[in-house]
Amino acid sequence: MMLRALVLSFLLLPSWALSRFEFEKPQMGVPFRVVLYADDKAIAESAAEAAFARVSQLNAIMSDYESDSELNRLGRSSGSGKAVKLSGELWTVLRAGEKFSRASDGAFDVTVSPYVQLWRRARRNKEMPSEESLQRARGRVGYSNMILRNGSAELKAPDMRLDLGAIAKGYATDEATRVLRRFGITRSLVAASGDMTLGDAPPGEKGWKVQLFNAAETNRTPFLVVKNCGVATSGDLFQFVEINGTRYSHIVDPRTGVGLTDRSLVTVVAKDGMTADALSTSISVLGPEKGLKLARKFGAQARETRISENGEKIDSATRGFWKKVTWIK
Ligand code: AMP
Ligand code: MG
Repeated sequence: MMLRALVLSFLLLPSWALSRFEFEKPQMGVPFRVVLYADDKAIAESAAEAAFARVSQLNAIMSDYESDSELNRLGRSSGSGKAVKLSGELWTVLRAGEKFSRASDGAFDVTVSPYVQLWRRARRNKEMPSEESLQRARGRVGYSNMILRNGSAELKAPDMRLDLGAIAKGYATDEATRVLRRFGITRSLVAASGDMTLGDAPPGEKGWKVQLFNAAETNRTPFLVVKNCGVATSGDLFQFVEINGTRYSHIVDPRTGVGLTDRSLVTVVAKDGMTADALSTSISVLGPEKGLKLARKFGAQARETRISENGEKIDSATRGFWKKVTWIK
């Protein structure tokens, strides 16, 4: 009887016995943050370490900066007429990318890299990409040139390059969360700058509080209160280059090759981090009308704030978005 009670109390550890632990490490070019609740410091540390190790493994596969990443090796095979066998992880993310490309009519496209490179240079030099360079990039972009079959990929056009900057962080926070679960940790938050995956809520709370942009400029601040989902924020409100008085975003419309010029900020709550990440970028490109429709199609909630020419803030959201929000003074 005693033993049974002991075992039970171990299994059903009261949530007040849990402590909060927080870890941070630069990964994938951004600070990765892991917040978790555990009853044991050693387990918390081992779990966080394993989660970071998983992210580092994913970075070696999906980075577009590291020349020897699996992603860049695949890029170099483009135009060779050969299909390349992929790791399970890259297959999963490219398949998802293809799904979001189709669903968004090409607004989301992991083959957008040649354009992104041009706009990265434009940011550095504060100079528009030339018409010729945009024209040259055009032939190298397009998800219909990425053929995925039986765990392999063939890039049909020569000199294609892939960029998972709009989807890999969400996948990585999902994977890190999975690793924490293997250590028995379910109450967790893994965040990679604007992309995050949330597990069960902190003890005694309804959910994790994620601060939102306050378009109303009231003295209260809106917070999402959410759990077991992904949240992503995307947009050019904070990351842009100004050339001749026009602001160009780091997000490019793959259909025109031009960096977005509307000033907007999109936040998505979706079933997981990868979905939220890809949707937030897609909605940034599509704008509120088509964008929010896309969110609904994936059962997600989304909000977009646009700043018009005269500085007016225009807020649009799916019906359920504000139901997840609490205003705190
Ligand atoms: P995010 O911050 O998640 O919106 O992702 C933005 C990053 O995704 C950019 O820095 C580019 O690396 C990449 N990217 C830009 N435009 C697109 C697009 N239309 N589709 C997919 N990826 C994009
Ligand atoms: Mg994204």
